[in-house]
Amino acid sequence: MSRTPVIGVLAVQGDVREHLRALSAAGAEARTVRRPAELAEVDGLVIPGGESTTMDKLVRAFDLLEPLRERIAAGMPAYGSCAGMIMLADRLADGPADQQTLGGLDITVRRNAFGRQVDSFEEDLHIRAIGGEPVRCVFIRAPWVEDCGPGVEVLAAVEHGPGAGRVVAVRQGRLLATSFHPEVTGDHRFHLLFTGMVRDAVSEDAHAGQ
Ligand code: GLN
Repeated sequence: MSRTPVIGVLAVQGDVREHLRALSAAGAEARTVRRPAELAEVDGLVIPGGESTTMDKLVRAFDLLEPLRERIAAGMPAYGSCAGMIMLADRLADGPADQQTLGGLDITVRRNAFGRQVDSFEEDLHIRAIGGEPVRCVFIRAPWVEDCGPGVEVLAAVEHGPGAGRVVAVRQGRLLATSFHPEVTGDHRFHLLFTGMVRDAVSEDAHAGQ
C-alpha cells in the first residue's frame, strides 16, 4: 500500500480553502504552504485561483520564488487552476512587463482571455482524461492557452460560444493546469487525477532511490 500523499496549497492569496477541501476529499493529506520550510515537506503542490499579479508579488515577498522554481524543476508535481495556470506557464501573452511566473509548463497563456469579470461563464466539457460524465467548468476572468510546446498534452478545449476551440486544460509530465476552477463545484475528479499523479511520482522517486 502506498502512503497518503502530502499535497500543499500555495497559500499566499486566492481560493486556498476550497482546494484544501477538495484534496482531502480526494484522499490526500492537504496542507497550506506559505514558507520554504513548508514547501520542502510536501510531495506535490496546488497553486489556486486568485490574481496572478498579486500572487507573483507575494511569492517574491515570502521568499518562495526560487524554492518553488527549484522544486518544480526537480520534478515536484504541481497543479495550477486559473491564476495557478498562469503561474505555471513559461510564457505570458500579455500582463504587466514586470510580472514573473514560476514556469515549468511549455505553454503561452493569455490572461483574462475570455473578457472581464462580467464575462465569467460555466460550461460542461467532455474531458477524456477525467472520463465519465462531462465536467462542469467554471471560468472566472479565466486565461486560455494560446500555444503549447510538443510535450504538452491538451486535455480540454471550450466546446461552444465565442471561445470554442480554446485550450483550457493541459498536462505536461508532472504538471497539470486548468483555466477553470474544479475546486468550487464539488466534483473532485481533477483533484483525484492530481492526487494520483502525486502518488505515482512518490513511488517513482522511491524506486529511483531519491
Ligand atoms: N485573471 C486572474 C489573473 O490574471 C485569474 C482569475 C482567477 O484565478 N479566477 O490572475
